[in-house]
Amino acid sequence: MSEVAFPIPEVVSGQTAAEPPKVGFVSLGCPKALTDSELILTRLSAEGYRTSKTFEGADLVIVNTCGFIDDAVRESLDTIGEALATNGRVIVTGCLGAKAGDGGGNLVREMHPSVLAVTGPHATQEVIDAVHLNLPKPHDPFVDLVPQSFGVAGLKLTPRHYAYLKISEGCNHRCTFCIIPSMRGDLVSRPVGDILSEAKALFEGGVKELLVISQDTSAYGVDVKYRTGFWDGKPVKTRMLDLVRTLGDIAEPYGAWVRLHYVYPYPSVDEIIPLMASGRVLPYLDVPLQHSHPDVLRRMKRPASGEKNLERIARWRELCPELVIRSTFIAGFPGETEQEFDHLLGFIREAEIDRAGCFAYSPVKGAAANDIPGMLPEAEREARRARFMAVAEEVSANRLRRRVGATMQVLVDSAPGLGRKGGVGRTYADAPEIDGTVRLLPPEKISKTLKVGEFTRARIVGTEGHDLVAIPI
Ligand code: SF4
Repeated sequence: MSEVAFPIPEVVSGQTAAEPPKVGFVSLGCPKALTDSELILTRLSAEGYRTSKTFEGADLVIVNTCGFIDDAVRESLDTIGEALATNGRVIVTGCLGAKAGDGGGNLVREMHPSVLAVTGPHATQEVIDAVHLNLPKPHDPFVDLVPQSFGVAGLKLTPRHYAYLKISEGCNHRCTFCIIPSMRGDLVSRPVGDILSEAKALFEGGVKELLVISQDTSAYGVDVKYRTGFWDGKPVKTRMLDLVRTLGDIAEPYGAWVRLHYVYPYPSVDEIIPLMASGRVLPYLDVPLQHSHPDVLRRMKRPASGEKNLERIARWRELCPELVIRSTFIAGFPGETEQEFDHLLGFIREAEIDRAGCFAYSPVKGAAANDIPGMLPEAEREARRARFMAVAEEVSANRLRRRVGATMQVLVDSAPGLGRKGGVGRTYADAPEIDGTVRLLPPEKISKTLKVGEFTRARIVGTEGHDLVAIPI
């Protein structure tokens, strides 16, 4: 990888300043890491730094790493190595930066001793300090006054029409396969007023879809005992229901969508469903269930593992028939019997999970699950993943086919030539990057055009794998 993404917008000061210092930036990992990258780039942009699209053209490179599974660790270490070989001046941040190596020291430093600085995740100030130390910030009074593209929401790395909104950092659970709490710490909820101000700034800046993310969205506010905050002069509790309801209210005049990710099936989620049924937020829930069998869930130490998920999902669908459920699962967890695995296959059939992803269990260094007896051979874990995906795809395809003939609202993601030859978009049932898309055919009416970031009504005329095909009307 020699291309580096994420240009900071051009700075127009009206004055000829000395060439501003240039930073290369690579952001790896999940949407939570992406929001950390956005915070760092926002600060650097406000201080007058520019970005370089290549390692060679940068004065210094920042690599935001992922340390979740072994493949991600390898990718992060390779990227650091490449940046060091090409540029030589590298600052490392992100989850991998918090990991210990075999020698007991910092893993990144053990593997790449010449990096300039290493920080853990969610460490904007430490990264900025390291940049200042190694690449002093430009002194340009005009540049210091440059507005940020989304006001208080800062700079975003997603397309202009959708944005991730991180509501908390860290996690209070200790799932046995996960090392995130050891890297990101316990749950810390952001003040509710800050989140709502950021949401408003994003809508004002043109965002049409807000994706609420965290490690555990349903736990929002637990750490501060759901204390009451303020927004727009009114009290709002630091609690998922109040946050989601207010986000829906703020989104409404902009005609924007609010989508919820990483929601665990606690009874409190039942209160959110009526907001979905009434159209306040999208009837879409990303619920990372990981398994269905109670014994496996206990071995995984999953949150809400005692809940009766089939009944809960049935009740949600009764209240909101349009509800779409996305989930992720692990096949071949240590000790998983054939009978437990069959339970999982039965569950996704019966629960009719609309979108399911599945990982074959892969041991993560430092995870407690490594000590659970009954590790299955890799070939068996992979075989179960493949069997799972075959069933999940059949369920998903059946659910998708029910859409044919319906007219749906589609958010346009791509529309070359004003969409006269068609484009690509998504319905409420599709989150960007992880779900399907809608292939838009040329509009029926010759006068109709499509624009990225705008909604269009479209008649669904067919399905293609995970995707829909539709005609804009
Ligand atoms: S809920 Fe479990 S899997 Fe998710 S971040 Fe917390 S410990 Fe990890």
